[in-house]
Amino acid sequence: MVNHATSDHSKMASATRRKSENGADLAEKIRSALTDSKSQLTEKQLQELEHQKLEIGEHYLVKRGDNWLGAELLDSRYNELAQQYEHYVHYTNLNRRLDEWVARDRVGHQFENGSENGQPGGMADLLNDQNGGRKITRNQKRKHDEINHVQKTYAEMDPTTAALEKEHEAITKVKYINKIHMGNYEVDTWYFSPYPDEYGKVPFLYICQYCLKYMRLEKTYRYHLSECTRRQPPGEEIYRKGTQSVYEVDGSDHKIYCQNLCLLAKLFLDHKTLYFDVDPFLFYVLCEVDKQGSHLVGYFSKEKESADCNNVACILTLPPYQRKGYGKLIIAFSYELSKREGCVGSPEKPLSDLGKLSYRSYWTYVLLEILRGYKGTLSIRDLSHMTSFTQQDIISTLQSLNLVKYWKGQHVICVTPKIIEEYINSPKFKRPRLTIDPSCVRWSPTTKAPQQKKK
Ligand SMILES: [Zn+2]
Repeated sequence: MVNHATSDHSKMASATRRKSENGADLAEKIRSALTDSKSQLTEKQLQELEHQKLEIGEHYLVKRGDNWLGAELLDSRYNELAQQYEHYVHYTNLNRRLDEWVARDRVGHQFENGSENGQPGGMADLLNDQNGGRKITRNQKRKHDEINHVQKTYAEMDPTTAALEKEHEAITKVKYINKIHMGNYEVDTWYFSPYPDEYGKVPFLYICQYCLKYMRLEKTYRYHLSECTRRQPPGEEIYRKGTQSVYEVDGSDHKIYCQNLCLLAKLFLDHKTLYFDVDPFLFYVLCEVDKQGSHLVGYFSKEKESADCNNVACILTLPPYQRKGYGKLIIAFSYELSKREGCVGSPEKPLSDLGKLSYRSYWTYVLLEILRGYKGTLSIRDLSHMTSFTQQDIISTLQSLNLVKYWKGQHVICVTPKIIEEYINSPKFKRPRLTIDPSCVRWSPTTKAPQQKKK
């Protein structure tokens, strides 16, 4: 440990050591040591802390909300606007979306990075604690991890995934663009995005909400607004119901727009790999229409020819429109197109944590609605035929609800009307707030051969 040891610091450090030795019920002790560690510091100790040099690559306690969490320091920079140094941190075991630039006063003591899981203040501790030390089921852990955006550790991944993941992290480690200004919104960004040259390194970016052109200076942006004539996405409007509208944009016809859309989306998606080669994709862009124009809400992209039978490559609802039902509206629209193509489809993996939650909830809703209203027997194949969901997605959804059994070599749906009603009335069941009206879709599959016929 490079750090000088104040009394609080050594208390924390020994707690960390003990934990890595026993791995037992030390969560509480560590947490109380952490809460103490700042409040009991004298003015002099605080000053000392201020002047302590921070090392990139080292681990520190960083204040997030009311808690001190273990975090790795990834970068430092001088922020001209705020006239202070700031430090880029990644919180151990938490989704990289929560990585952020913090001022010096939020960075506390350094500590040694032990095992990947065994860090003070991490989610693992809280989880053990909430359960009073009881063993949690795998299903409970998955749910918890999804909701709290807990990342898999490298140890939990297979070696290839871990290697790819490490490379991905190395390239996209630091998010330089903190915020974008777009239309009526200023939006905090979540992830690194490869905006070219100097655009990628500024903390603040201006984006035209109609053509998605990006600019560094407010002056340039204002001038652009006065001369940009676009008020809607390019391509063809293929859906319109009330104020909601969907455009189909071909990547090879509107290259710049689609590239700009991908760069913008990357600010909110961790694992998007497509930015510039947009030709093989179609983009379905959802807008809210008012007197000013069609405002971008979200989109999904889709490969023109998907070998893996994916009906969605990337899917995103912009943060100002999240938690309003648009995500599921976009998902529903993607299946509406698959139905018309006579295909089954599934989103490309990996899905983001938020994407996973939306899809799971959407599949659950659609399947339970069908099962509830249906008299007679239904096979998984029937369900797939009716919904355009893949059999695999149907099975995994029904499994998570305990509604499927494996019997004589196949999956069999086992439900009674009573069980369905119980699920539908439980708080877990979420009825979509917005739905697609199929009669408003003005689209039919192009003449290309369907990728996969329904069986
Ligand atoms: Zn523009």
